[in-house]
Amino acid sequence: MIDLLSLPFMQRALIAAIFTGLAAPAVGTYLVQRRLALMGDGIGHVAVTGVAVGLVTGTSPTWTAVVVAVLGAILIEVIRERGHANGDVALALLFYGGLAGGVLITGLGGQSTLRLQQYLFGSITSITAGDVVVTMALAAVVITLCVGLAPQLFAVALDEEFARVAGLSTRFYNVLVAVVAAVSVTVAMRTVGLLLVSALMVVPVATAQQVTRSFRSTLWLAMGLGVLASLGGLLVSTFAPYGADVAPGPTIVLVALLGFVLAWPAGVLIRQRRRREAPFAGDVPPEHLTTDHEHLHGKECGHPAVPHGDHIDYVHDGHRHAAHGKHYDEH
Ligand SMILES: [Zn+2]
Ligand SMILES: [Zn+2]
Ligand SMILES: [Zn+2]
Ligand SMILES: [Zn+2]
Repeated sequence: MIDLLSLPFMQRALIAAIFTGLAAPAVGTYLVQRRLALMGDGIGHVAVTGVAVGLVTGTSPTWTAVVVAVLGAILIEVIRERGHANGDVALALLFYGGLAGGVLITGLGGQSTLRLQQYLFGSITSITAGDVVVTMALAAVVITLCVGLAPQLFAVALDEEFARVAGLSTRFYNVLVAVVAAVSVTVAMRTVGLLLVSALMVVPVATAQQVTRSFRSTLWLAMGLGVLASLGGLLVSTFAPYGADVAPGPTIVLVALLGFVLAWPAGVLIRQRRRREAPFAGDVPPEHLTTDHEHLHGKECGHPAVPHGDHIDYVHDGHRHAAHGKHYDEH
């Protein structure tokens, strides 16, 4: 076992797994909070065309995927922001077009769809040294932005209306999250594949939310769970019984899902206890179940208010938070 782990291809896979496991749930935390859990899935479908362009033109599929995924993500954000009634049809056309276009371009360019498959379902054990460097660099950018800009991104994700009133450019931060999501899709492409990438962005976040209460702790725990799932899935697939062909990408996703299944009963218990201890924390006014509602956290906003030291906390969307100038803090 130790011998296998000391092989260069295995070490490359382990490094890629760690960085993917950190980056994907980091941006996923913001997507989940904004109820855009499937955005990563959409970007993944669009990125298939980017990979195909790279394969056919003989350039790096990673870089062509980054470019196409970022363009797709901005397009998705523009369609979403306009919020037209037929917006989801436009998104569906984009997603299916991306996937079908990618398969078609690969075939037309005389490339085997087997090559494309490596990107659809991941191929972490065939990752090259160059790929690892790119993965690390892109993941570092994603993690730095998600952690470094956490106060602003939290504020926009928690309450877009309030963030706008407080003077934050919500459009800038929304587009930034979309672009960062596109980059992390590319990072995770070699690990779990474009068709499963969204799982690694969303499932660790959903698991973390079972036991955490504040945004910040969800972010950190989700990143930790992402690393555990990536490493766990990789090791399970590596040490599967001889003769069994266990693909790492799907295994990583299943390990992440197993984590959620295990955390769920704990979440139920924690929520029950919280409801008893703090009766105000559990009942979220139904008008706050959407992200686009208008209110200022003032006397009339209708949120339960709790004095807390020198300021007032508002119970809002199941969280207790206070506005500090241009951002929210969880308390
Ligand atoms: Zn609200
Ligand atoms: Zn309020
Ligand atoms: Zn407070
Ligand atoms: Zn503050």
